[in-house]
Amino acid sequence: MKVLAYRGPGSMVVEERPQPRPGPGEALLKVDACSICGTDVRIANGSHRAYADALGRVPGHEVVGTVVEVGAGGRAADGERVFVAPNYGCGMCTACARGQVNMCEQPRAIGITEDGGFADYLLLHKDLVDQGNLLSFNVATATGATGLDIGTVALAEPLACALRGSRACRIGEGDVVLVYGAGPVGLFHLALARLAGAGAVVVCEPNAERRLRALAWGATSAHDADFDQLQAALVSAGAPKGANVVIVAAPVPAAQAQALELAGPWGRVNFFAGLARGHSRVELDTNLVHYKELVVTGTSASTNEECRAALELIVDGRVDAGSLVEARFDLASAADAFELAASGRAMKVLVTP
Ligand SMILES: [Zn+2]
Ligand SMILES: [Zn+2]
Repeated sequence: MKVLAYRGPGSMVVEERPQPRPGPGEALLKVDACSICGTDVRIANGSHRAYADALGRVPGHEVVGTVVEVGAGGRAADGERVFVAPNYGCGMCTACARGQVNMCEQPRAIGITEDGGFADYLLLHKDLVDQGNLLSFNVATATGATGLDIGTVALAEPLACALRGSRACRIGEGDVVLVYGAGPVGLFHLALARLAGAGAVVVCEPNAERRLRALAWGATSAHDADFDQLQAALVSAGAPKGANVVIVAAPVPAAQAQALELAGPWGRVNFFAGLARGHSRVELDTNLVHYKELVVTGTSASTNEECRAALELIVDGRVDAGSLVEARFDLASAADAFELAASGRAMKVLVTP
């Protein structure tokens, strides 16, 4: 089988490997599609700490596929179409006991700590299978009623992460929401805010094309990162004292500082995007948190439950993930796929083995 392996900073290489056979409790997945995430781009250019000495590891954590073989005593069913929730844990710590596998003390994830989905086949660990990370879905609905294709389902992973951040902000009916960033995840936040009943969603995004996309996705208005413009936009959206919710889905330190300024009284803020290593010390006016009684949250990755909820949002068409897929590559040309993803010219790029 073919895989796309990390061979050092800037070097992703298509290699031939023997097809794995599942041992007891394991499952073998035939990969239908794996989408490229910003995390994968960081892995490829050598700036992901989990890949510091992981030469030969296969990235890819946004995976949809078909179970083609199950090891003895395995729980997964043969022939089942599944989305793989990528994060699983030790199964023993407090976080795991609460179902918060993303916070496990020894977190594991396909494509991060072990081989992932840029491959013809993916061997799934017994613990991942046992912890319920294989989420099946109804193909008939996915392909028929909504015209959704299977590859789109891979985007349930970033959507699940966005859902976790969105829930932390407890968006309510009529809330005015400000979202920084209109990349795939920013757009997911916008869509989730609308689904949660937001009255208006103002988007801040420096790229003009992406601003247009945000408007098409239902943004009330979209602006460059100019404080006065954003403030005026919040006034016309009905929040003269500031936004009820601010989500920072762009890895920009200045946006985190500005988020506190533009949040209104009792505002909920989510620092969704992590900042680049070495750039995460940010000067914040904490009196804004104090006097406005802000709730500042952070979220990271997602749980199986969030993956399940995100999967359903995509399969039944409530979130239009399909329109974000702008290019598809087979595994042999996966290196080109990475180049396109890194260029930022495409919203989402799929590798379809
Ligand atoms: Zn991802
Ligand atoms: Zn754990």
